[in-house]
Amino acid sequence: MQDQFPDTFPDKFKDECGVFGIFGHPEAANMTYLGLYALQHRGQESAGIAASDGGQVRISRDMGYVADIFDGEALSHLPGPIAIGHVRYSTAGESKLSNAQPILIDCAHGQIAICHNGNLVNARELRDELVSQGSIFQSGSDTEVILHLYARSRAQSIEDAIVESVSQVQGAFSLAILTRDRLIAVRDPHGFRPLALGRLGDAYVVCSETCAMDLIGATYERDIAPGEVLVISADGLRSIRPFPPAPLAQCIFEHVYFARPDSYVFGRSVNEVRTELGRILAREQPIAADVVVPVPDSGVCAAMGFADESGVPLRMGLIRNHYVGRTFIQPQQSIRHFGVKVKLNPVRSILDGRRVILVDDSIVRGTTSRKIVRMVRAAGAKEVHVRISCPPTISPCFYGVDTPRKSELIAATHTLEEIREFLEADSLGYLSLEGLLSAVQSERQSYCSSCYSGIYPVAFPRDEATYLQLALKLDKLGRVDKEPVAK
Ligand code: SF4
Repeated sequence: MQDQFPDTFPDKFKDECGVFGIFGHPEAANMTYLGLYALQHRGQESAGIAASDGGQVRISRDMGYVADIFDGEALSHLPGPIAIGHVRYSTAGESKLSNAQPILIDCAHGQIAICHNGNLVNARELRDELVSQGSIFQSGSDTEVILHLYARSRAQSIEDAIVESVSQVQGAFSLAILTRDRLIAVRDPHGFRPLALGRLGDAYVVCSETCAMDLIGATYERDIAPGEVLVISADGLRSIRPFPPAPLAQCIFEHVYFARPDSYVFGRSVNEVRTELGRILAREQPIAADVVVPVPDSGVCAAMGFADESGVPLRMGLIRNHYVGRTFIQPQQSIRHFGVKVKLNPVRSILDGRRVILVDDSIVRGTTSRKIVRMVRAAGAKEVHVRISCPPTISPCFYGVDTPRKSELIAATHTLEEIREFLEADSLGYLSLEGLLSAVQSERQSYCSSCYSGIYPVAFPRDEATYLQLALKLDKLGRVDKEPVAK
């Protein structure tokens, strides 16, 4: 089979975004900086913090990593006891500073800053309507729509204006919102993206993953419930439930790949779920071999589960270079497997002469997986058996995860045997959808698994086809590859 996929696209799903917020801490901006540092894996393109001293909201944001953007000097310009922060990978809108978050505006209700994890499926429609009524947008981000709706609201209170605006958007949204004197956390009624609430002394913390709480010494209290608007102010906590009941659709891929294994998301340990996926995979796709080798870091937990269950020893046969920047100078002279070698290097003493089970969490286009298979074989492996701890990805995500368009997903266009042949593997086995859902047991009905099934819990309007990020998912004729289906 020919390599039909060019090497210009990253061959991994892109993390979406991470949000953090804190109320009632004397060093709110510093705590937010640390929280974002822990959430860096969820977005590496830009980061920002907004803080309020009770009278004024100030903001700082830039392109790049959290640690590169903020230093003591930058944080000293963000005084006050309330802050929110964001790390971003662009899912809707281009990668540029005007799309970085938080977004801060000043309007009739006063200053408001917002951070968003997720993707709004009706943003284009709302945006067109707002523009036709005179709104001027500053960015290409879907999140800005919420602020325009807020600014136009005639509601008497800030809470009512927020409720009115978030009630008009559809899709995935976990939000941290900052006003002059309060922090507001919102989670969409389907609960696509995680959002947790914690305590740090007298302060309250909200964040995408609990690993951010661990770093600052906060304790997890509970998840923000799907459909909940939680207002945190000097008067304490007030929970509002403005949305009509909706089927839950928590993103199963948070457990498969996105979230850090030391986090709890949707009330479950990511490490436990991910390791269990490996155990189930070993039962579903057994193979005689000498070593189980994870593709680091994403395949490590599942490989441990696979090794546990199969009794085949786990060995770190691939070592990852953790210091790879986003760009590097490629030598003009060709070096075999160069692109992958920069990130991974095989350990010959582990691989040479062995039958290897290579465990990873997903295959997107297959090009990177094939390079890794070739690299393992070049290091002397006698056989290479690829095992994937999720089902074949056959459909794009419309809820805040940057998947390529359907035509670029290898599993959408090829049979299992064709993919195996493309990877040049001796065998290939995916986890079944049933196996994946069994790892979250009793809550299986609460999860979205649309990228494996093509069945979408939130249908999006037909003219969404022109919408920024959704446009990435179109085939060459400009059509959505598959009609979304409402559950
Ligand atoms: S389509 Fe896939 S990646 Fe997107 S929310 Fe659903 S499970 Fe998550």
